[in-house]
Amino acid sequence: MLSRRPLVARIDTAALAHNLGVARRLAPGARILAVIKANGYGHGLAHVADALRAADGFAVLTLDEAAGLRTQGYTHPIVLLEGWFHPDELPEIARLRLRPVVHREDQIDLLTKARLDNRLDVWLKVDTGMHRLGLPPRRVRAAVERLRSAAQVGSITLMTHFACADEPQLGVQAQLDCFRGATEGLKLPVSLANSAALMRYPQTHADWVRPGLMLYGASPFAEHNGEGLGLLPAMTLSSAIIAVQRVRKGEGVGYGAAFVAPRDMDVGVVACGYADGYPRHAGTGTPVLVEGRPTRTLGRVSMDMLAVDLSAVPGAHVGSPVQLWGPGLPVERVAAAAGTVAYELLTAIAPRVRVEVV
Ligand SMILES: *Cc1c(COP(=O)(O)O)cnc(C)c1O
Repeated sequence: MLSRRPLVARIDTAALAHNLGVARRLAPGARILAVIKANGYGHGLAHVADALRAADGFAVLTLDEAAGLRTQGYTHPIVLLEGWFHPDELPEIARLRLRPVVHREDQIDLLTKARLDNRLDVWLKVDTGMHRLGLPPRRVRAAVERLRSAAQVGSITLMTHFACADEPQLGVQAQLDCFRGATEGLKLPVSLANSAALMRYPQTHADWVRPGLMLYGASPFAEHNGEGLGLLPAMTLSSAIIAVQRVRKGEGVGYGAAFVAPRDMDVGVVACGYADGYPRHAGTGTPVLVEGRPTRTLGRVSMDMLAVDLSAVPGAHVGSPVQLWGPGLPVERVAAAAGTVAYELLTAIAPRVRVEVV
């Protein structure tokens, strides 16, 4: 007997395909490397890859994810965004024709000594100001020379990553200038743009764009949600009311009595908690839909449940549908209420949440 707990993450494959189309229209001259790391941003790697198979390539984090895609028959270019984590992974990376990011010079040393079945196509990462991964700009030319003369290396793609593409004040210009200075005249394919840069800075499109979040229908910008950008949310997280409490004026709701009823009111208890990935930091007032009507959460989120205000939904009862996020209630709004970003909520969806693919 399968559990009938009402919490479900519904994944809309048509929305994923639509969002890929938006990326294509915005960056018509670039190839699209669909970023599907972190289990397809929490949506499920296998069906996300299937819905996005019209992309020109995929980006993942780990060898396991990439090997799974090869096993499923995908022949796309697959980039490993952090390259290999241990030299032992290299032979398999070569055998599966994966494209590792090379971000440290000692990795080039290792590469030039490796015995591999076939030449590796590498993505050389330049640190243009984010100071996370990548070679310093002044070291790029020498590194390219070494890679070009290495028998183990096939093609070289140059990449960098923007720290502030989603921040209207900071933007990409300084990093873009730095990248151009470091790579001028190298005549190699280039990849720069994440979702924010793809949507806001056409001058960053280059040869490959690397959209992630936008493919799932969410916005990287604090000032807009995905629907405002023409994107469709790919995940609907929904559940149902499993109990209704008549709470009297002055009584508390949930742990710590963090919400105290200002008057007599009906409170719905919803089957969804932080062990499902719903953010515990979302306090009273976080938006939620009950029977399609906007209302708010009350008090602290528990491990397996949360409470909602039924004052605005008088007919609500046990079994009434609840939407935590999805069409009509952007995940970005829930994230903002919890002091975080859509990335974190989507990727936090727990394995115990039932997934339904439509
Ligand atoms: C995750 C990631 C992306 C995608 O970023 P979004 O903001 O989700 O579009 C692109 N490039 C690199 C290197 C990444 O790690």
